Amino acid sequence: MSNLEKNPQELPLVEPVETTTASTLVSTGSTTERVELLEPREVPLGGPRALTVRRTLPQKKRSLIGAWCFVDSYGPDQVNGRGAMDVPPHPHTGLQTVSWLYAGEIEHRDSAGSFALVEPGAVNLMTAGAGIQHSEVSTAATTILHGVQLWVALPDRSRNVAPFFEHYEPTPIAHDDATLRVFVGELLGQSSPVTAFTKLLGAQLDLPAGGRVNIPVDPTFEHGLIVDAGSPTLQGVTVPAAQLGFVPAGATELTVEAGSHPLRALLIGGEPLGERILMWWNFVGRTHEEVVAFRAQWQSEVVAGEDADGRFGHVDGYQVDGRPGRALPAPELPNVRLRPRD
Ligand code: MN
Repeated sequence: MSNLEKNPQELPLVEPVETTTASTLVSTGSTTERVELLEPREVPLGGPRALTVRRTLPQKKRSLIGAWCFVDSYGPDQVNGRGAMDVPPHPHTGLQTVSWLYAGEIEHRDSAGSFALVEPGAVNLMTAGAGIQHSEVSTAATTILHGVQLWVALPDRSRNVAPFFEHYEPTPIAHDDATLRVFVGELLGQSSPVTAFTKLLGAQLDLPAGGRVNIPVDPTFEHGLIVDAGSPTLQGVTVPAAQLGFVPAGATELTVEAGSHPLRALLIGGEPLGERILMWWNFVGRTHEEVVAFRAQWQSEVVAGEDADGRFGHVDGYQVDGRPGRALPAPELPNVRLRPRD
C-alpha cells in the first residue's frame, strides 16, 4: 500500500526514546517490563472510494519496533466490485513491504516483474531496496477487505539491494490454546523462508475466548501485539481492540490471554535497528538530500515518463477501465528540511 496522505508529515525516525506516558509498570515473574499502549491514528487514504486505515506506527512516542517502521490496519470493510482498494503504481526505497490479509484478495504488480495475489494466510513480502514501484488492486470477488500493511526499514548495509518479491504461506501451528502463523522470522521452532535483513519476527496469533498462551521469545527483541479483534491482556495489561501493545527488549516470554472474546492479532518483533532513518511518503532514506533526490527521480523518470528503465523500473498490467493506468505523483515536499528528530 502507498502512503496516500495529501500532505504526508515529515516522519523522521530516530531511536525510540524511553517514555513513561501511558505506560503501565507490570511485574511478570522475574522480569519487570513496561507494556506501552499505542493508540491508532485514523488516516484517510484518499481516492474515489477511500479506505480509512488505523495507523499505529510510526507515531510521536514510538518510531520503530525492531526494524518495523510502519503499521496500517484496515477493515473489515464491506466492499463491492473490483478496485475497492486501487493504489496506482507508486515507488518505495530502503524498505520491505509486508502485506497480510484477514479477508479479501488483492492483485499485486511490481517492477521486479512480479504478479501475485495477496490472500488471507499468506504473506507477500516485497523488498524495495534501491527502488521499486508497485500497484495494488482488490479483486472483483472481494466482498470484505480486512488486513494489515507493514513496512520494515532496511539496515544501511542492505538498503541498496536489487528489488525482489517473495510469497509464503505458513503452516498454522498450535501452542497452548493458540494458533500461530509465522510469516517472518522464527518462533516456536517454526521458521519462515522469506528474507529478513535484520533479526525480525512476524506472526498471526489467534486465541479462542478464554484462551491463554505463553510464547517463548528472544530477549534481544522488542515486540508489538497489534490487536485486530478482541481485547486481550499482554503481560497482564489490557490491550484494547485496534491498539498496539509494545513490550521492550528483555522479555523471555510473552503471556497473552484472550479474555471474554476471541483474539486475532499480529505479533511483530525484532532486534532494535540501531540506526537513524528518515521516512517521507513512500521513501526511507537517511538524509534530506537523498529523499529529495528519490522524489525528483520518481517524478521525472516515471510520472513524466522520461526513463522507463531507471531506478524504479516499469509495472506491467495496471489498468483503469481497461486502459493503462497512470502512476501516482509524489506530493509536494514541505517547506522545511526533512531531518531526524532529536
Ligand atoms: Mn506500497
